[in-house]
Amino acid sequence: MTTDVIYLDYNASTPCDPRVVEAMLPYLTGIFANPSSRHHQPGRDAFTALEEARSTVARLLGATSATEIVFTSGATEGNNLALMGVAGAQAGRGRHIVTQVTEHPSVLEPLIHLRSSGWDVTEIGVNSDGRIQLDELSDALRDDTVLISLMLANNETGALQPVAQVAELAHERGALIHCDAAQAVGKLAFDVATLNIDLLTLSGHKLYAPKGIGALFVRRSRPPLRLAPLVRGGDHEHGLRSGTPNLPGAVALARALEIAFGNLEAEMGRLADLRDRLEAGVVDGLNGCSVNGSRAHRLPGTTNLSFAGIEGNALLASLPDLAVSTGSACTSAHPQASPVLLAMGVQPALAKASLRLSVGRFTTTEDVDRAAVRIVEEVTRLRSI
Ligand SMILES: *Cc1c(COP(=O)(O)O)cnc(C)c1O
Repeated sequence: MTTDVIYLDYNASTPCDPRVVEAMLPYLTGIFANPSSRHHQPGRDAFTALEEARSTVARLLGATSATEIVFTSGATEGNNLALMGVAGAQAGRGRHIVTQVTEHPSVLEPLIHLRSSGWDVTEIGVNSDGRIQLDELSDALRDDTVLISLMLANNETGALQPVAQVAELAHERGALIHCDAAQAVGKLAFDVATLNIDLLTLSGHKLYAPKGIGALFVRRSRPPLRLAPLVRGGDHEHGLRSGTPNLPGAVALARALEIAFGNLEAEMGRLADLRDRLEAGVVDGLNGCSVNGSRAHRLPGTTNLSFAGIEGNALLASLPDLAVSTGSACTSAHPQASPVLLAMGVQPALAKASLRLSVGRFTTTEDVDRAAVRIVEEVTRLRSI
């Protein structure tokens, strides 16, 4: 680890919690057998551990049964399985899907693919807060709408979408609702029952478990939701995801959720305080600094800031001591403004001069104080040259 760098990019990935590593270690060595090999004891032990992990994930997400949890490699796969899976199994009900413009590429790109195979996709816009308008969503629904895909929290701004209200609208119109909750699980208090959601995606490495594990919740009651698999070749995960399951990953994900839910309210408050302190430190120290996205409806640990008069890439380059993200995809010659910020009506120059700062479990007050000082210093310096 580079020790001098302050890590403020928890929305991109989190370190494993040491308690998660401790929980998964036995499943890398001792209990390593294939959970499908139930004709011998080591295989039965692995199977038992996998199903215990599945039950824990189901219980903590508010699912009614462990059979509603499909382990995946992460949220990209979960989103693809949800969208392509519904399209593959439910085209008979219609060929229309509704989503919104600031979804993650792992939602938007499968939908582009579906468009090219005859599906109609309506992408509604967002306001300057980064949030959809309920009446616009309602107007977009049609008799042949099969699915709405709406994220709970945006990865760049932290803006929250009114998923519970949209779920109600979806069900009134006979449509299904999928939610990409990769940024929300373990950070906000909710469950699939209160949201009344049909499909929900989560990712391990956004909540202190390793990369390469995630889960898709697929409603199995009232009535069971049919999905077509992406990966075939066995009967794993109820036929929805073939391949030997990632048992250490599943155990890690279950433990990560237990830890997150065990201290959720207190941690939400702590992260919001750290984020607010960081944000105030930067905004109060500079003119021409604006906060992008809703301040009232956003994730506790995320802020997205724009700085007038500078380039985001130049700012990143002058802050090697901070691990942060810029909204622009930095192909150095042609910095692209973040599509998320542009969709919110942020001016292109300001969208290119933005920073996403995300705090997490191991962030300290000293970290955010030093980061705020450094950002103010470098923005001031860049503006003076
Ligand atoms: C990180 C992220 C993803 C992708 O998750 P992976 O597990 O890295 O594939 C999808 N959606 C959102 C909102 C994310 O933040």
